[in-house]
Amino acid sequence: MRKEFLVFGSPCIEDSEILEVVKVLKSGWLGTGPRVARFEKDFLNYKQSNFAIAVNSCTAALHLSLIASGVGAGDEVITTALTFCATINAILHAGAKPVLADIDPVTMNIDPVRVEEKITENTKALLLVHFAGRPCDMENLCRIAKKHNLKIIEDCAHAIESEYRGKKVGSLGDFGCFSFYVTKNIVTGEGGMVLTKNEEDAARIKMLALHGMTKDAWKRFSDRGYKHYYVTECGFKYNMMDIQAAIGIHQLQRVEQYWQRRRHHWQRYSEAFADMPIVIPAAAPEDTRHAYHLYTILVDKDIVGISRDEFLEEMTARNIGVGVHYLSIPEHPYYQQVCGYDLKDYPHAAQVGRQTLSLPLSAKLNDDDLDDVISAVKDIVVSRSVVQRRGV
Ligand SMILES: *Cc1c(COP(=O)(O)O)cnc(C)c1O
Repeated sequence: MRKEFLVFGSPCIEDSEILEVVKVLKSGWLGTGPRVARFEKDFLNYKQSNFAIAVNSCTAALHLSLIASGVGAGDEVITTALTFCATINAILHAGAKPVLADIDPVTMNIDPVRVEEKITENTKALLLVHFAGRPCDMENLCRIAKKHNLKIIEDCAHAIESEYRGKKVGSLGDFGCFSFYVTKNIVTGEGGMVLTKNEEDAARIKMLALHGMTKDAWKRFSDRGYKHYYVTECGFKYNMMDIQAAIGIHQLQRVEQYWQRRRHHWQRYSEAFADMPIVIPAAAPEDTRHAYHLYTILVDKDIVGISRDEFLEEMTARNIGVGVHYLSIPEHPYYQQVCGYDLKDYPHAAQVGRQTLSLPLSAKLNDDDLDDVISAVKDIVVSRSVVQRRGV
């Protein structure tokens, strides 16, 4: 068995970002400054959109995108029943009602057929999550949005590298929101980004990210003399710091290299588990590019002889860190109470939420780490089926 615990989702931090952070600290300019501007420009260049606004999380990016979409009290936003809580919280913080649509059990993405059923006269926007880095069915979702005059916000927390029919995700809808949290494909510690093609929306988001102060506030302490600012809206404290951007600039240079590594890990897992009684992720369609953010397996107790929760414990006992992405949204007591969700209405998300388990997929893993993960999974499945055969 492995000696050291394999941490789930540990980032690759290299010397160039360490040195850049030291430079920022020595420069004395820790807040939003030249490195944030550079990171926005580089990100825009990679993603090929019109405007990028760096913020301190994807949650902040989602919240501001909803506000800029005109979403507020009394409005409904349709989103997936299988996502991280931040997706739902952002809708609630915008004052709107999150309306859930069930997933397609094969893609694990929101099902356009279920979306259409949920549209009412109060629906303002669709908040789409490209789950695990697999692009949503954008053709049908964009068609629905157009027909009902809805904004599209893409939660691209898993999907920096994803493409749909040659277009980068995050610029297929009105807003694209990205995360640079420690476990994501590239990291800044905490951090996020909004992409938009609309100049006015970009200006409003930038202003709302810094207290609602007019744009001169961003340079009020520059060497060009003090600039007054005026508060024109009640904004938030969502700006990114240069310390974070210093990490991001160098991480972004390796985004494709890391993607290649994760694709390699993904293929090794898929080959190793092909004949096992667990469900592995479906291959992405030819005309899309998967970001390979999560490798999720499904553990059905009736078939494997062990529940997902027991499987998690067995993996941890073998020194392999694992994750769950995610318990479905209707499982959480707060959302049940406030939004009135009933698990029965989302059978696919409920089932995936109870059977899913994420294996380590970080670019940092080497071949020995992968061997350890694969042996642990095989060992658990084989030992359980032996127990079953003995009728214990
Ligand atoms: C991580 C994540 C978020 C939140 O990102 P932060 O940068 O931590 O705010 C939102 N949505 C999804 C799907 C995520 O995985």
